Amino acid sequence: MNMKILVFGSYDFIKKLPDQIHESATDNLVAITDFHQAVAQIQTASPDVIFVQASLNGSIELCGWLKEQTQLSCIHCILVEDRPHQLVQRSENGWEWDLDMTTAALHQGADAYIWQVQTEETATHHLMLGQLTVGLRKAQKYRDLLEKNHILSAIALADSLTDLNNRRALEWELPRQITKARNQNIPMSLLILDVDYFKRVNDQYGHLVGDRLLQLLCTRLRHNLRSQDTPFRYGGEEFVVLLAHTTGEEALIVGERLKRIVGEQPFGINSKLTIDITISLGVASLENDDDEQGMSLLHRADQCLLAAKKSGRNRVMGWHHLSPSPTLEAVS
Ligand code: GH3
Ligand code: MG
Ligand code: MG
Repeated sequence: MNMKILVFGSYDFIKKLPDQIHESATDNLVAITDFHQAVAQIQTASPDVIFVQASLNGSIELCGWLKEQTQLSCIHCILVEDRPHQLVQRSENGWEWDLDMTTAALHQGADAYIWQVQTEETATHHLMLGQLTVGLRKAQKYRDLLEKNHILSAIALADSLTDLNNRRALEWELPRQITKARNQNIPMSLLILDVDYFKRVNDQYGHLVGDRLLQLLCTRLRHNLRSQDTPFRYGGEEFVVLLAHTTGEEALIVGERLKRIVGEQPFGINSKLTIDITISLGVASLENDDDEQGMSLLHRADQCLLAAKKSGRNRVMGWHHLSPSPTLEAVS
């Protein structure tokens, strides 16, 4: 076993823990007897198992606090009763568990409640080691789940053809960037781009070539974006790029550059086939009365894209090109 173990307990308490617990711990066990210090340690070290000495001030509070922290719910908390006066009556067969005490301890947040009985140390040690195994199992399951969750999130948010972030990822990221821009009082913009006459590519060369072209286009776009720009595949041959920390004017420059790098050089599908394409782009910037989800912002950029298509394609249109001119009515 190799696990992160933390002890909320005195030096004497640590000394009495079975050797196997010391050997299993990745780091030396250190005495922590202050509630706030324990909380700070738990938050930074996120251990797999915590042994809590019941007689310490704050022991039950610590178990309760831990139970309330959903992101720390994987930590196995073992409360060890070391107060002799709390021990229950002796029966003829040895020590009897006090069910009320145990129930209360579990309710208050401990995952296990163990009595440290001096005269029956071996039994106590066995129980502790048993609980350590439970903690390890729990930690491993939790890590597996985290890993799976990570993979599933990546699958759920990526577009399988282009590997770009997909529309779901945009729906998650756009409100986040809007909030950030507003909190920090910095500009943000976005652009929507669409391949011109892409249907003709499919019609002329087939869908597989169309697919390959989309992949090559994405690679080219990705390589020509700045670090603060995040591209998404919005739908078929339509893409959105979030431009953090970017004014409307700067966004137009980014758009013009993308238009140029796509239109100026053909895409090599294979050694025999190259295809020329162009793109049209719509650009919009965040305004005070835009909604938090970014729907109005997206809508403005989309109207600009529509205008770019209508006015001949292979061009970038910004909101100021349309607003407040009556052209807006014509394209909406
Ligand atoms: P416009 O300039 O007006 O945008 O014309 P367009 O032909 O690009 O637009 P239209 O909406 O008529 O056609 C888009 C085409 O994109 C139709 C659809 O079959 C194709 N498409 C969408 N997604 C994919 C894809 O994943 N792979 C391939 N090969 N084609 C796709
Ligand atoms: Mg198109
Ligand atoms: Mg389209």
